[in-house]
Amino acid sequence: MDCIFCQIASGKIPGDIVYQDQEIIAFRDINPKAPLHLIIIPRKHIPSLDQLKESDAALVGRMVAVANRLAKDEGVAEKGYRLAVNCGTEGGQLVPHLHIHLLGGRQLSDSLG
Ligand code: 5GP
Ligand code: ZN
Repeated sequence: MDCIFCQIASGKIPGDIVYQDQEIIAFRDINPKAPLHLIIIPRKHIPSLDQLKESDAALVGRMVAVANRLAKDEGVAEKGYRLAVNCGTEGGQLVPHLHIHLLGGRQLSDSLG
């Protein structure tokens, strides 16, 4: 498996990991777009939002809960933050392993596109 995020999750390549449990791992984005830019992924290789199954609903719910907790822990929850998921080429997805971006620490652009 040459998926970069699978390799970070398995420890094959280093990542600045801020949270991990049996199902989920979170690490700092290598090219941060904001003072806080974390990536939250499932350990399981799901290529994109588009590939989610109904049976993944609890996992995705937990990913959002982890993101919210990290926003609190990293001190951005009070002022506000953004969770974003890119899907597919026109959605701006570059890494084909489902991930949530957690952005915060500055006033974010009001443009989503
Ligand atoms: P996407 O465009 O797929 O939604 O976002 C992929 C994100 O992964 C980008 O923000 C990019 O900077 C980040 N990224 C790509 N490769 C690596 C890596 O090897 N390590 C880390 N920590 N982040 C990465
Ligand atoms: Zn993967």
